[in-house]
Amino acid sequence: MAINIAIDGPSASGKSTIAKELCKELEYKHLDTGAMYRCVALKVVRTGADYNKDEAMKELLENTTIDFTPEGGVLLDGEDVSKAIRTDEISMMASNVSTRKIVRKYLVALQQEIAKDKGYVMDGRDIGTVVLPDAEVKIFLVASVETRARRRYLENQKRGIKCNLRELKEELVERDYQDTHRKESPLKKAPDAIEIDTSEMTIDEVTDAVLNIVRPKLV
Ligand code: C5P
Repeated sequence: MAINIAIDGPSASGKSTIAKELCKELEYKHLDTGAMYRCVALKVVRTGADYNKDEAMKELLENTTIDFTPEGGVLLDGEDVSKAIRTDEISMMASNVSTRKIVRKYLVALQQEIAKDKGYVMDGRDIGTVVLPDAEVKIFLVASVETRARRRYLENQKRGIKCNLRELKEELVERDYQDTHRKESPLKKAPDAIEIDTSEMTIDEVTDAVLNIVRPKLV
């Protein structure tokens, strides 16, 4: 029987990487909810909409489509924005727009609709607490800020995105603070989530640890 797996945790804690590995192993589908907030952020930056105004955000959301290609690419209004949504500016703007209730309500409804057929690994900040409170498996990934900054730095280099390690670390700390302290669905571990500190673990080790938690639920 297919289940849903929720993965939450702070920025660059390895959520998307582990979600992709699990999907390969289990033949599940991945939903990167952060990419959806990033798409809204990119559209805000491009259109100059005032994200603090409900009216402006309502109109923007009603005129926005977000899709994922089978290869994991992200389409905003039909345009491939997989790379454009990964800049530091968009990371910070995603954290800003995600504080807005109107944005969260809209994206959470989409995410719940997508996952209703089960067989999803969904990663974000509020999956275990708000989006899929009944997910059969809930994982909360954490890692030291040094490890996370280093990982994001290497990932950006691979993607051809210029960045500076010190600035990346500062941005992660700022974003984590905002994500943890916002009023609407702050980042927090669900009471029934299992926490894994990935600071000293390889991708394979984390994947195996999660699979050991998942497998008994599949029978
Ligand atoms: O996961 P990622 O770093 O791509 O997410 C970008 C931003 O989107 C986060 O810093 C957070 O503010 C927001 N987000 C959220 N809820 C989610 C996923 C992402 O608030 N489920």
